[in-house]
Amino acid sequence: MSDFPNSYYAASLNRNKKSYSKLTGNYDCDVCVIGGGFTGLSTAIEASKQGLKVMLIEQNIIGWGASGRNGGQIWNDVSWGIENIEKNYGFTHANQLWNISQAAVELIDERIAEFGIECDKKNGGINAATSPSKFREYVKNSEYKLKTFNYNKMEVLSKIQTQEEIGSSIYHGGILDHGAGHLHPLKYSLGLMDGAEQLNVKIFENSQVKKINQARDFIEVLTPDGQVKAKKIAVCCNAYLKGLNLGIENKIMPCATYIVCTETLESELQNFILQNDYCVSDTNFDLNYYRLSESKRMLFGGVVGYSLRNVERLKKRTKAQLDKVFPQLKSLKVDYIWGGYIAITVNRVPDIGMLNDRVFYAHGFSGHGVAFTGIAGKILAESMASEKTVELEAFEKIKHRKFPGGRIFRMPLLVTISAMQRMMDIFNA
Ligand SMILES: Cc1cc2nc3c(=O)[nH]c(=O)nc-3n(C[C@H](O)[C@H](O)[C@H](O)COP(=O)(O)OP(=O)(O)OC[C@H]3O[C@@H](n4cnc5c(N)ncnc54)[C@H](O)[C@@H]3O)c2cc1C
Repeated sequence: MSDFPNSYYAASLNRNKKSYSKLTGNYDCDVCVIGGGFTGLSTAIEASKQGLKVMLIEQNIIGWGASGRNGGQIWNDVSWGIENIEKNYGFTHANQLWNISQAAVELIDERIAEFGIECDKKNGGINAATSPSKFREYVKNSEYKLKTFNYNKMEVLSKIQTQEEIGSSIYHGGILDHGAGHLHPLKYSLGLMDGAEQLNVKIFENSQVKKINQARDFIEVLTPDGQVKAKKIAVCCNAYLKGLNLGIENKIMPCATYIVCTETLESELQNFILQNDYCVSDTNFDLNYYRLSESKRMLFGGVVGYSLRNVERLKKRTKAQLDKVFPQLKSLKVDYIWGGYIAITVNRVPDIGMLNDRVFYAHGFSGHGVAFTGIAGKILAESMASEKTVELEAFEKIKHRKFPGGRIFRMPLLVTISAMQRMMDIFNA
């Protein structure tokens, strides 16, 4: 099975990763977690804290999926926007989800402190507007959050302030969110893995779950060489969920996104580009998301597609996006490029729920998973340990439509939608 992709994150790990054996033979447990990313690790940690006997099964190695490859950016809110939740579901519901999204961000710092995770965490992120109308929209949104939820961590940056802060002349203004931040996602994943192990979670790697049988009193989880009989299971496979036939696959669409990592910026450039080490996400649909690494390389993501095949072409496309934002970095060499799959839902709100009393799942974080996955795991674990929590109910009340088409047809559909949205971005600029 697979190792980490050749990413900057894998190259800058400050440790050797511990390996875990394949699942062979028969086991029993209270909770079997499928998937060794942020969601699965968080579920396992919290279920174990609830006194349950927990096993976690990963088809490759811990942190192999999106959790070990992402942009590392931590943002609150759901991707759809909390104001849309309020419009469609009312204030009480919006307030509940908003509080969960705040708790999600706080949980990262709590976990870092609890397990002593060294993952280069930094505070602050800028939402940068690529047109005056986007800027007005952003300002309105920050006013809404202040007025509705008393969220006072957002600071409006004028056009000049935004350009100076970022070191790019393309922006028309921005919002600096002091509650946002960024981290090294693979270091964080492995820190959670250590935490899970300390809490006696039994981890298996290179063990692909091929089948799930639901009996009356237990669930049977089958891999090629072994099986686990569990009272409850948590399916935490996100965009990599495939073939388990649980009826939840078409509520998400896997969508590939790519990151390039340049060589280290010269020290003179470091004085002008992201001088305060904030991460940035800009407002196009094919959003650009970028930040500096601990070693002052530019980590720049953005291109969305549906195939990880033609790497050289993707490298060119992503570097071209980077050059548009930072022409000063045109001559910088790209040292790494990698991609991975995110899972989006139709309404861009995570899909967290239970199929029955024994089968729980969380996926479809729609680009906000660095923060949301942790709290999703906590919500699943608490609901598995006793009664369904009010937080889980809050997510279950959100209606999720299914994407039309099978896995193969869902992805080209997204690319068509993205292309249309890109055109709209150009017209609205
Ligand atoms: C390039 C990229 C950039 C991103 N940038 C950001 C960002 O800056 N900010 C943000 O908030 N979000 C970002 N995301 C999204 C974020 O990474 C995800 O939302 C989050 O990591 C999802 O975590 P997860 O644990 O649910 O899924 P994953 O980390 O993908 O883990 C799922 C795991 O399940 C395993 N699995 C699947 N099927 C099976 C099976 N049958 N048996 C056993 N194991 C199985 C997989 O191997 C995988 O390891 C980005 C994603 C990518 C790919």
